[in-house]
Amino acid sequence: MDTVRVCAPDGAQREVDGVTGARYRSSDGVYDMHPADAAAFRKIGAFTPNLAGASTRGGYRCGRCGFGSWFVTCGRCGGPCSKES
Ligand SMILES: [Zn+2]
Repeated sequence: MDTVRVCAPDGAQREVDGVTGARYRSSDGVYDMHPADAAAFRKIGAFTPNLAGASTRGGYRCGRCGFGSWFVTCGRCGGPCSKES
């Protein structure tokens, strides 16, 4: 079976449950998933590494802890994030 590599929208996320029932663990937020799980994961904000790289450009940055985020609410501490220029 081919797997699809995706990055979690929150790099601090260490565990993901796929729609297929598989559970994935990662130490760095990068997952090799069943294609169906990868597709579902992308719908909630995951992205492919070759598109985004290690950069958070276009995302947000937490004003409280400095964590890079794709959302306006920090995935690490829940603080408010502002747009990165
Ligand atoms: Zn934060």
